[in-house]
Amino acid sequence: MSGANRFLQRRIEKIAVVGAGLSGAVIGRELAEAGHAVDIFDTRAHIAGNCHTERDRETGVMVHVYGPHIFHTDDCEVWDYLNRFQTFMPYKNRVKTTVKGQVYSLPINLHTINQFFGKAFRPDEARAFIAELADGSISNPATFEEQALRFVGRELYEAFLKGYTQKQWGCSPAELPSSILKRLPVRFNYDDNYFFHRYQGMPQHGYTDMVSRILDHANITIHLETRFRRGQQTDFDHVFYSGPLDGYFDYECGRLGYRTLDFERFTYDGDYQGCAVMNYADASVPYTRVTEHKHFSRWEDRTGSVCYREFSRACGADDIPYYPIRLVDDAEQLARYAARAVEELSVTFVGRLGTYRYLDMDVTVREALDTARRYLSARAGGDRMPAFLHPPIEPREFAREYADLPRSGMENLRVSR
Ligand SMILES: Cc1cc2nc3c(=O)[nH]c(=O)nc-3n(C[C@H](O)[C@H](O)[C@H](O)COP(=O)(O)OP(=O)(O)OC[C@H]3O[C@@H](n4cnc5c(N)ncnc54)[C@H](O)[C@@H]3O)c2cc1C
Repeated sequence: MSGANRFLQRRIEKIAVVGAGLSGAVIGRELAEAGHAVDIFDTRAHIAGNCHTERDRETGVMVHVYGPHIFHTDDCEVWDYLNRFQTFMPYKNRVKTTVKGQVYSLPINLHTINQFFGKAFRPDEARAFIAELADGSISNPATFEEQALRFVGRELYEAFLKGYTQKQWGCSPAELPSSILKRLPVRFNYDDNYFFHRYQGMPQHGYTDMVSRILDHANITIHLETRFRRGQQTDFDHVFYSGPLDGYFDYECGRLGYRTLDFERFTYDGDYQGCAVMNYADASVPYTRVTEHKHFSRWEDRTGSVCYREFSRACGADDIPYYPIRLVDDAEQLARYAARAVEELSVTFVGRLGTYRYLDMDVTVREALDTARRYLSARAGGDRMPAFLHPPIEPREFAREYADLPRSGMENLRVSR
């Protein structure tokens, strides 16, 4: 008998999991399968967190309620794990963008370049043409704007990158650091598949159905519309918290910066835009994109259609936090919260909100599996489970005096304010 099994025979633990999103569902399932009693809390009236899908009442279309979610990964174990609970239908993410009344293919590729400049370049010709346009005088770009000009020149930057980036982050690309645009955002072929990952797909019955199957275990009890508050951890052997890190401490050190989204729903009788996601790159159009949800599940063949216009803005106290901004100015505040989290006994902070990082779904599942395994091995070995397996900031930054914080754990999103 293994050490872990010997330990489990001795004691069933009472575990609280805060959040019924992918992080909470996977951790809860793994610990339930190991024999522990798992209580899962969520403030919302539904499971699946931000991946939640539901049928639109009017059209019957499966809607991605908190914005479009496309599953993609190179992680075979994560892919196999999720396929235990759901059949994934083939789906390739092909995004279009509207610029000054014309529709182009994204990411910027040979088709985009030829269409935009009215040319019929072959790959090498396009490469040489873009090299001519690129601003070679910028050798050490500090900002997103400088990096873009250095890569693709002013025409493509202003048409495809400037307005969209400004709308998404609420500030000029001249204020954003160059690190956001790490690579040349151009392909010199006609490949318009947004992701390079080996496995891509859409859950046949939606993400919420998939998560409900993950949660379907005799040792799991779900408490919806129930907020978990700091202090309740004394009722449990351990807590896995996937809510906002600053929220756990009642925002005592202030609020970490997030962008939030507003969705404007409208319906259409037929096919509104011919694709799932249409970006709008012009700064004069207030929304960033339109999602036509029925294109995520084409096998369902619906006649009616439901679309969401998506608007991005700063996240207020009553808004849903979507994208962590990770301003350089947030570093000290984040370090304070992280330091407090480490002092919290029997709580592990997980997921996109608990660790204040943007995480794709596959990374979320990978981290959740690793977290559950680490917990089981820590218990078997009599070790303490850490507050973070994946810290929001480099550990040395919150383990030292706050006044002297280095900033390397942040993405230095904004150059100046
Ligand atoms: C607009 C958008 C689009 C995205 N698109 C993609 C995509 O195409 N592909 C991809 O791979 N990933 C995508 N993602 C990322 C994906 O949403 C995340 O990977 C995933 O949601 C993370 O799951 P989670 O469980 O960590 O967090 P969440 O899904 O946010 O779940 C956390 C849950 O905790 C609950 N909660 C918080 N505090 C409390 C409390 N005190 N008590 C009880 N419950 C609480 C919340 O209600 C929430 O349901 C996208 C994200 C966004 C914002």
